[in-house]
Amino acid sequence: MSRQEKVTISVIKADIGSLAGHHKVHPDTILAASRVLADAKKKGTIKSFYITHAGDDLQLIMTHYKGVDNPEIHELAWKAFQEATKVAKELGLYAAGQDLLSDAFSGNIRGMGPGVAEMEFVERPSEPVVIFMADKTEPGAFNLPLFKIFADPFNTAGLVIDPRMHDGYIYEILDVYEGMVVEMKAPEEMYDILALIGTPARYIIKRIYRKSDREIAAVVSSERLSLIAGRYVGKDDPVMIVRAQSGFPAVGEILEAFSFPHLVAGWMRGSHHGPLMPVGLRDSKVTRFDGPPRVIGLGFQIKNGELIGPADLFDDPAFDETRRLAQVITDYMRRHGPFMPHRLGPEEMEYTTLPQVLEKLKTRFKPFELGYKPVVKAEGSEEVHD
Ligand SMILES: [Mg+2]
Repeated sequence: MSRQEKVTISVIKADIGSLAGHHKVHPDTILAASRVLADAKKKGTIKSFYITHAGDDLQLIMTHYKGVDNPEIHELAWKAFQEATKVAKELGLYAAGQDLLSDAFSGNIRGMGPGVAEMEFVERPSEPVVIFMADKTEPGAFNLPLFKIFADPFNTAGLVIDPRMHDGYIYEILDVYEGMVVEMKAPEEMYDILALIGTPARYIIKRIYRKSDREIAAVVSSERLSLIAGRYVGKDDPVMIVRAQSGFPAVGEILEAFSFPHLVAGWMRGSHHGPLMPVGLRDSKVTRFDGPPRVIGLGFQIKNGELIGPADLFDDPAFDETRRLAQVITDYMRRHGPFMPHRLGPEEMEYTTLPQVLEKLKTRFKPFELGYKPVVKAEGSEEVHD
């Protein structure tokens, strides 16, 4: 199969500044980015594009025939973000240029701040894809729904009744602290998969392949801003592409995984747990305590490399009860105020401004006789109790 016959979808996003704090993207910045991509489409660099926003994140959805990690495509996205940033600065938008961690483009946009999810495949006669874009959370937020979509028969009926899905899927899981990757098979290694992905700050599902033929099924942006910059910049609001139907889960099976508003890390100052609330485009903005964390889902058909659509998939009363539950959970979590588990644990807070406050208190502590010698377990120690 020649490379030309494979179409690539690239979803590249960045927070380049937003209207009224971290609420939503300003339409003029969308226009600025659109001009750059329209020009690239005219020149034939990309086949088609769609620009939208998830809360304060500008989302570039592009199709082309250049493959993943293509320098020309990444540079194009970088340029679009730069042009949008110029407008954001003119308008005095909040945190203008926030996610652009570097001044100059150096060949690959990964590691420069923006989030990237890309996949390449030979187009089927009908090629439905769903693109999820979340705000006020992190890439590991997709771990739970991705487990349900591709490994849980109580979510996805096709795992049981569709012979093309019955063999299961391969999960590619990243350890973003160590820069390591592991492949695991579902259903055979389900418990081992869960042992990892239940720690979503560290282990992130990067890709999923169909086991029978290794066709790409899903890909997630895995960039963690704080790990790139070594400090809190903004949350690493993630994006994800999932292929649907004909040997992949149905669109409805994919959406079903979002009917439970599970707790994710992010929300106010990237420092709190809250429910992930699925919303339509009109509600793609954050308000209460800069949240609650939200996800939008856009359905497209890809035909001859063109993006057909989108369908605004969560704009539906079928998700009203999910949203209502998310509001109840929002109330419940908020009442914890500055206490864990609403506020994130100390490892995650390392990347926020909390250590500066704690540092100031250090000199106030005096020795105290506990009556025992505390054994604080070092990382990697072997002792196990249950
Ligand atoms: Mg954001």
